[in-house]
Amino acid sequence: MDIDLNQIEEIINQIGQAQTLEEVDALYLKLMGKSGYIATATRSLSVISKDQVKEIAPKLTQLRQLTETATKKTRLEIKEKEYEKLDLEQLDLTTFEKIKQRKGHLHPVTQFEIEIAELFSKLGFQQFDAPHIDTDENNFELLNIPDNHPARDLWDTLYIDQSKLKVSPGKLLLRTHTSNSQVHIMKGLKPPFRMMSIGRCFRYENLDARHEHTFDQFELIYIDKGVNMGNLQYLSEYFLKAVFGSDIKVRLKPKYYPFVEPGAGVDGQCIFCHGAGCKVCSNSGWLELAGAGMIHPNVLRNGGIDPKKYSGIAWGFGPERMVMLKYGIEDIRLLKSGNLKFLERY
Ligand SMILES: [Zn+2]
Repeated sequence: MDIDLNQIEEIINQIGQAQTLEEVDALYLKLMGKSGYIATATRSLSVISKDQVKEIAPKLTQLRQLTETATKKTRLEIKEKEYEKLDLEQLDLTTFEKIKQRKGHLHPVTQFEIEIAELFSKLGFQQFDAPHIDTDENNFELLNIPDNHPARDLWDTLYIDQSKLKVSPGKLLLRTHTSNSQVHIMKGLKPPFRMMSIGRCFRYENLDARHEHTFDQFELIYIDKGVNMGNLQYLSEYFLKAVFGSDIKVRLKPKYYPFVEPGAGVDGQCIFCHGAGCKVCSNSGWLELAGAGMIHPNVLRNGGIDPKKYSGIAWGFGPERMVMLKYGIEDIRLLKSGNLKFLERY
């Protein structure tokens, strides 16, 4: 039988030139595997002449050693090259430092809402969170907005698909305003009380520079004996002066909301033209900054409060719009865009 030692040497050379660990392993097996060249040659020593064995056996031992050495060496070289490659890609440890420095901060609207909450907590108002998904009853009916009431046209409501619900808690919707908190507060508390509610509201709106389908509202509800429009005027001035400076002029004008009577639009003198008239205030010199009113007797009654004994104020506004005015932001869509370049300015 022929033992081709040259072929074995050739494969050992190939091991020395291999570029990957997989290549090295395959070549190694080709020689040292059970049916590899060296193993086969070693087995065939039993069928050749003693002289041949004397000549070939030491060569085979040598080739076995050469295979082991070449494999070890090449594997090491390949690994070193991989480490070098990693070095070339340069692990920049200062990146971690940079990441650490990029701390997030509160969204400008959240910052503003915290300020307002602090402002009103000084007057004894406590915060209350009403559910975002609520019943039609709490969002509309008990607020003096029954089904078919024309005022429902004011809100484009997102109703919940209840076809898969096993229990029906009533017609469900995404609240269109924070005023649902009025109902929850009146059902849960006995007057007198001063409560405030801040949170998300939802309407089926087409997005444009002034309209969002998801937006925040802030709302106060103050119920006690003898609460009147004077308190409403005071709260309006207290708030607008704190936000826009003590020289801002404030006025109330009649405005319709179904859950208050009388209702009031709260105007502040235009902060851009100081009353002279400009594009922002449509040349009127005034900006409507909040909506308010004396809580409608029907709403008090629906909340289990006797309107002959108690009266109350509901007062609220949209924090997003106020933040836009405060910082001169022209497009409401920027606020929820997640655009870091925009957010980093505040
Ligand atoms: Zn103006």
